[in-house]
Amino acid sequence: MRDNFSFKVPGEVKFDSIEILPEVIEEKALEKPLLVSDNGLQEAGLVKRVKDILKDGDIDFEIFLGVQPNPSMENVDNGYARYKEHDCDSVICLGGGSSIDAGKAIAILATNDGNIIDYAGMHAVENSPVSIIAIPTTAGTGSEVTPVAVITDEEKNYKFTIYSYKIIPETAILDPDLAASLPADIAASTGMDALTHAVEAYLSKISHPFADAVAEKSMELIGKNVRKFVADRKNHEAAAGMLLGSMFAGLAFSWGRLGNVHAMAEPLGVYFDIPHGVANAVLLPVVLDYNALADEGKYQRIFNYISRKNVDNFRPELLAKEVYELNEKLGIPGSLSELKVDSDYIPDMAEDAMKSGNVKINPRQTTYADICQLYQEAL
Ligand SMILES: [Zn+2]
Repeated sequence: MRDNFSFKVPGEVKFDSIEILPEVIEEKALEKPLLVSDNGLQEAGLVKRVKDILKDGDIDFEIFLGVQPNPSMENVDNGYARYKEHDCDSVICLGGGSSIDAGKAIAILATNDGNIIDYAGMHAVENSPVSIIAIPTTAGTGSEVTPVAVITDEEKNYKFTIYSYKIIPETAILDPDLAASLPADIAASTGMDALTHAVEAYLSKISHPFADAVAEKSMELIGKNVRKFVADRKNHEAAAGMLLGSMFAGLAFSWGRLGNVHAMAEPLGVYFDIPHGVANAVLLPVVLDYNALADEGKYQRIFNYISRKNVDNFRPELLAKEVYELNEKLGIPGSLSELKVDSDYIPDMAEDAMKSGNVKINPRQTTYADICQLYQEAL
C-alpha cells in the first residue's frame, strides 16, 4: 500500500428512475441543456424517451446526436458548435462511455478557449466546465463518475486522455431500465470492461484503501450479475447490480488507475477499430497471467468474487483461466486473431501502449519487449 494518498468523492449519484431528470435540471436552475447522444440510442428509442421526459417537464433543450464510438475531436467540435449556436448552458450525456466522454469534452470547450487536445493529460483543464449530467445506458465505462474523457485524434491515429477532477459529472442518474435494450454482445463486452477497471485498479501499484474498497464491491456485484445480465438485460436486479458495479469500478480506477490491459487496448481501438470493452476482455486473461508473478494475495480474492467454483489449493495462474472461461461463456472472442488483428502492427501498437501512464503502475514491471510479447500471446 502507498504511504500517502488522497481521493475525492465525486458528484452526486442518483440511483433512481430517469423520470427525475426535469427535477434535477430545475434544482440546478439550468435553462438550456444540450442533450449529447448518438444515433444508435436514437434507433433504440432511448433518445425519444428522454426527449419526452424533458418536454413533459417543460424543459427547453437542444440535441446533438453526432457522437461516434471512440469519439473524435471532430465530434467534439461539432457538438460544441451546436452548443454555442443554440446558447446552451449545460450538458446532459446519454449513452455509453463515448457519449459521456464527448459530453465532458463539449462542457470543457464551453468554458475554456482553444482546442480540446489542449486539455489532454493530467489536470490541464483550467476553468470548471458547465454542469454535466450523465445518464449511462451501458453497465460499462463508469464514465458517469470518473475524472476521465478519452478522445481520438483521427489525423494522428492516436487516443488521448483528459484527466481532471473538474470534469467529474455533477450528477449521475443510474436507471437500470435503460440497459434493457442493450444487445447481448455489448452487455458482455461493456461488463468485462467494467470488471477490468475494478481488477486493474485493485492490482495497480498505486491502489489504496478507498480504491480497494470500491473495487471489491464492484467485483462482488459484477461477479454475481454479469452472467444473468448478459443472458437477460431485462432482468432488473441483474441490470441494477451491473450498473452499480460499473459505477463502483469507475470510482476505483479514478483513484487506483489502471494497468497494462488498458494501455494495450487503446491502440487496438485506434488501429483496428476494436470496441474498447472487447479489446479489454480479450487482453485481461493474458495480462493477468503475466502479472501472476507479482501477486501478493489479491488474485485469490478476485477469483472468489468472479468464480462459482470452490478451489482448495489456489494458485494465481487459476485466475487467468477463470477469466478466459468467463469470456467464453459470455460469447467474447478468445483471441486477437479472431478480431483480425495483424501481427505486423504489434511494434507500432506497443510503442503507443508504452506512452500510457498505466504501464508504469502495472503490478509487474513491463518493458516495450514485454508488451510486444503480450500482444503476440493475445493473438
Ligand atoms: Zn475501460
